[in-house]
Amino acid sequence: MGAVPKTKVSRHRRGNRRQHQRLDAPTLVTCANCGQLMRAHRVCRACGMYRGRQVIVMARPTTDEE
Ligand SMILES: [Zn+2]
Repeated sequence: MGAVPKTKVSRHRRGNRRQHQRLDAPTLVTCANCGQLMRAHRVCRACGMYRGRQVIVMARPTTDEE
């Protein structure tokens, strides 16, 4: 026999343990360069800027596809 719990874990206790397992909405900030909403600490998908630096050279000017 493997490990067997000594006592039953109540619904309340089980819920308390799982309260951190929820999914959170991603933190969105506005781009300092183009003003679009973007994920925090990531390169802007619209203009390719990160911390005032051009990281990705965009093929076409600002468009929304994704
Ligand atoms: Zn931008």
